[in-house]
Amino acid sequence: MSKFFSAKYAKLVPYVPGEQPKDAQYVKLNTNESPFSPPNSVLEAVKTEGGRLQLYSDPESALLTQKTAEVLGVQPSQVLMTNGSDEALNFAFMAFCDENHPIVFPDISYGFYSVFAKLNGIPYKTIPLKDDFSVDYRDYLGVKANVVIANPNAPTGLAISRSEVEEILKSNPENVVIIDEAYVDFGGESCVALIDKYENLLVTQTFSKSRSLAGARLGMAIGNEKLIADLNTIKYSTNPYNVNRMTAAAGFSVLCETEWFETCVRTIKENRESTKTRLQELGFTVLDSKTNFLFAKSDKVSGETLYKELKARGVLVRHFSGERIKDYVRITIGTAEQMQIFLTKTEEILKEKKV
Ligand SMILES: *Cc1c(COP(=O)(O)O)cnc(C)c1O
Repeated sequence: MSKFFSAKYAKLVPYVPGEQPKDAQYVKLNTNESPFSPPNSVLEAVKTEGGRLQLYSDPESALLTQKTAEVLGVQPSQVLMTNGSDEALNFAFMAFCDENHPIVFPDISYGFYSVFAKLNGIPYKTIPLKDDFSVDYRDYLGVKANVVIANPNAPTGLAISRSEVEEILKSNPENVVIIDEAYVDFGGESCVALIDKYENLLVTQTFSKSRSLAGARLGMAIGNEKLIADLNTIKYSTNPYNVNRMTAAAGFSVLCETEWFETCVRTIKENRESTKTRLQELGFTVLDSKTNFLFAKSDKVSGETLYKELKARGVLVRHFSGERIKDYVRITIGTAEQMQIFLTKTEEILKEKKV
């Protein structure tokens, strides 16, 4: 730390992204990316837009916003496009939370929530998941604080129902409830349809997982017009051109690829269920995933050992050292071929451990 670093950030512990190794070609199942490249139409759109990079992007991302709104069944004024949904979340923390408006979230969830709270000097409290790692919506009723819940949750993969979210919304009318739907396309119940009914609901979604654009950085916030206007105030006070030209073009054209999208999602779900079955046959405990990953623990090998042994064999999964989840690994669902390699290597490791 330099002597110039602001004291207000002295205690900040930044978010640690999953490994993006450059040393070897791994079967990469550690950061919940899509295993499928974007379709050709997206590559073409990006190329065309590349020829206009001397010009600033549209600060309103008007075409993309309109298309996104159409796909979601909402009004363009109810959508804000952002540089990844991480930016939407940060804008929401900045806009709706402060010393007098703390935020609560599950103790085991997306690691960025506590980072955004600390970054912005926002008091926060975590609410423990149940022993089975589920979110109990009753823990969030009348909490007198803003709420952020990943639904489905990460890294557990478990989801709560739309009607449970509604109970949280109804019981906290004076607070904003943020529902992070990064994984919703893989089996969760979206709350987007509730934005007209609840003025305190903000939903975030991303193009990073189900739409194969993690490297483009594109996400969005969806809520009533007034919430979106507040987020725009933050956006225009930090970075009006938050979505670059090539990303906006990629986002627009990927939203036109309905069939491609449905095939990708269906394939991931199929691969998830077959991998889950196989892992259970191998003695793993596997949570009921509504996402593009599995959260699983072996009865024969620790989470850390499995992670390390898989890495040594060219397969990357994610291991978290938190006390309650250190026995588990999080496995992103890839292609059928990738899952086969993962399973073969896992079996190999289990056999060795038996001795
Ligand atoms: C991946 C992820 C995000 C954000 O991803 P972006 O790439 O910034 O859109 C947000 N929340 C959760 C729970 C995630 O797993």
